[in-house]
Amino acid sequence: MEDAVPASNSGSSGQVVVAGAGYAGLHVALRLTAKLRDRPKMDLTLVDRHDYHQVITELPRVAGGTRAAGAVRVPLQDLLAERVRFAQTEINGFDLAGRRLLTGAGPIGWRRLVLALGSRPNDFAIPGLARRTLSLYSASDAEQVWAAVNVALAAAAAATDPERQRRLATVVVGGGGATGVELAGELAEILPEVASRHGLAPGRPAVQLVEAGPAILAGSSPQLIDEATRILADLGVRVRTNAAIAAATEDGFQLADGQLVEGGVFVWAGGVKAPELVADSGLPTGHNGRVKVDRYLRVLDRPDIYVAGDLASVVDPRTGHVLPPLAQVALEEGETVARNLDAELADRPLEAFTFHDKGFVVSVGTRRGVADIAGITTGGRLAHLLKDAIEWEYRQSVKHLRGWDPIAR
Ligand SMILES: Cc1cc2nc3c(=O)[nH]c(=O)nc-3n(C[C@H](O)[C@H](O)[C@H](O)COP(=O)(O)OP(=O)(O)OC[C@H]3O[C@@H](n4cnc5c(N)ncnc54)[C@H](O)[C@@H]3O)c2cc1C
Repeated sequence: MEDAVPASNSGSSGQVVVAGAGYAGLHVALRLTAKLRDRPKMDLTLVDRHDYHQVITELPRVAGGTRAAGAVRVPLQDLLAERVRFAQTEINGFDLAGRRLLTGAGPIGWRRLVLALGSRPNDFAIPGLARRTLSLYSASDAEQVWAAVNVALAAAAAATDPERQRRLATVVVGGGGATGVELAGELAEILPEVASRHGLAPGRPAVQLVEAGPAILAGSSPQLIDEATRILADLGVRVRTNAAIAAATEDGFQLADGQLVEGGVFVWAGGVKAPELVADSGLPTGHNGRVKVDRYLRVLDRPDIYVAGDLASVVDPRTGHVLPPLAQVALEEGETVARNLDAELADRPLEAFTFHDKGFVVSVGTRRGVADIAGITTGGRLAHLLKDAIEWEYRQSVKHLRGWDPIAR
């Protein structure tokens, strides 16, 4: 692996550039690596602002203090083969006419570009939200949530006024999708023990989950929603549905119906949108700024640029809806992009993308979860084990490619 790509690289005949080393981008890079042996003319460059890959699906555990942040950061140098160039640099824009990425390390030219820059939290322009809340989109974010929870519980323990103590010891999570449910469950399970460590009564901490829609885990089966709601209630999480946040102030979340949700820590997990630099790029974008692609995952009217992962706006022909921003979707799209890049080099026809839904699994706390697989809903310990197994399998697939075990380090 080389550390950096030459700043003035103008795109050699076989230059494939993958922008983003997340689920989609890393998968493309690893899959293409296997093809490099047979393709001496192909150059592969991976670009990311970090020199590690983040296992984002495990962030709720970092935020709840049950997993170290270092365990979800997988160093790229241990994953990438010699012939893959890696450029650790910030991508600042695109020169679409000149086919160059504009980066902090200089322009990087492409013959084929794979855009896999993921997404960022969407505050839906709610006043004060971005400033008042923490987010959960990186290992550093998760560490900050865990630190903030500890600071708030320590302050609560020191407070003499019971009302102030109650407020400080309350964690409020905005957004009742999978991320919000996983975080609320994880914290509810772990906070009593953390409170004791800070000299606070174990029953003092509280977790509230605030959701604008009529139900948590929108779009899931009623059975799955009921089961998740039941487990959250069992953990003592107060779930507020139909609770749209109108503004976030120093006092807390101001709901549209006039109620105020107070707390010591506020985390926003209410949705994602495309990174800003894509919004300004001139690429065709759709809902939430995601880039519109054809059925081969190439940008409309730009056959030299593929998009995969959260950034791609891919309509599922079976439902007519855009696929959700999920790791399993990112991995499948990465697979198709890698296959299509190889097909182009071999003069084979491209493959249209088809999503094969493997099911939906959400952890609710440290021991239980809910799952919808092949139309069957499961709740409890088995679903949590399934979630563990999926994460283990993902790490194994990466380890299998480079013989590296991040957890064992
Ligand atoms: C807390 C949480 C839990 C989740 N749990 C699940 C789950 O259980 N199951 C599931 O299927 N999905 C889950 N998801 C969704 C899943 O994580 C995303 O769908 C997935 O990460 C998308 O992959 P990606 O490759 O598109 O983007 P990412 O994995 O986010 O990767 C994007 C990469 O691009 C890099 N990058 C971005 N901008 C720049 C720039 N300007 N310059 C340089 N580098 C840049 C980033 O550093 C990053 O490495 C979860 C998401 C969150 C936030």
